[in-house]
Amino acid sequence: MSTIEKLLDGNKAWVERVKNKQPDFFEEQAKGQNPDFLWIGCADSRVPSNVVADVQPGELFVHRNIANIVSPTDLNVQSVLQYAVMVLEVEHIVICGHYGCGGVGAAMGDETEGVIDQWLEPLRSIYNDHRAELEHMGSEQERYDRFCELNVIEQVAHLSESRFVRQAWKEGRELSVHGLIYSLETGLLKNLEVSVSGT
Ligand SMILES: [Zn+2]
Repeated sequence: MSTIEKLLDGNKAWVERVKNKQPDFFEEQAKGQNPDFLWIGCADSRVPSNVVADVQPGELFVHRNIANIVSPTDLNVQSVLQYAVMVLEVEHIVICGHYGCGGVGAAMGDETEGVIDQWLEPLRSIYNDHRAELEHMGSEQERYDRFCELNVIEQVAHLSESRFVRQAWKEGRELSVHGLIYSLETGLLKNLEVSVSGT
């Protein structure tokens, strides 16, 4: 069984590795952040944003929740969005979903309850909107995979309509919204080619 010491020991070893490679790394980090990317991903432990994108601390501003949902009534994601777009002025927002997403899978069935059930409600709407396509998929696996993709595509659309993104575009700022999906089986990110830039 793991203990908290595992994390503390891991942290010390990481600091040593980083300092060996770049002695002034933490000194530089302490000066402030200037990330180009906002990453909105799933809370799943197998999809750690900085690891799968192979980037250093300071390169991604990150928000993760179950099934990477961007809800207009979620103060958490909306605050992250406001800060990233209006203050940090990121140039790219990435919605990153993943195949095999437990939240997406739960929204396909009816076994959830309580808060998670409420949280997943937007996914049920997405399912209903795409019911014809989803229920004509060749297999259950294909239906699940496509629903994971459609969730990312719909969240990209939600983001493009958000007031902070619209405001940035109105000001003529460089800002693009992208949809990616991660494969747990291969470790690869796929671009769903639904990027949207200023209008
Ligand atoms: Zn997930």
